[in-house]
Amino acid sequence: MRVLMLAFVMLFLPVLAQASSCELSIDSTDQMRYSEAELTVPSGCETVTLTLTHSGSLPKTSMGHNWVLVETDQLSDLAKDAMAAGPANNYVPAGDDRVLAATELVGGGESTSVEFSVADLKGKDLSFFCSFPGHFALMKGKFIIE
Ligand code: ZN
Repeated sequence: MRVLMLAFVMLFLPVLAQASSCELSIDSTDQMRYSEAELTVPSGCETVTLTLTHSGSLPKTSMGHNWVLVETDQLSDLAKDAMAAGPANNYVPAGDDRVLAATELVGGGESTSVEFSVADLKGKDLSFFCSFPGHFALMKGKFIIE
């Protein structure tokens, strides 16, 4: 029985290890910062699950944060349009092809997550940012698939 268990663990452990590395988490704060400037996933991932936490205490109306994935050269244009989309849309333009993934907006003490496919994103220069008005200057980073 013990041998069988060991065989089972050895067979499935690599699968579990790969699955867990396709899960990312990042924190955000009342100081308008993310905890990471760079997020990396292995190219073996087909889908990635990202969890955003907000460890501050300010409400989302004044210090809301989200996590939006975009091609780096489209970041500043998208950030402008996101501002115009307004709070009713979580500051994410609806149906916009430039939005590769986006979480909802969270306030202090809240968390949210998003699952998205990275199948078509390999080899692209990608960045993430917070689209709450005025935040992207400080709240952005690189998203790397390696
Ligand atoms: Zn923010």
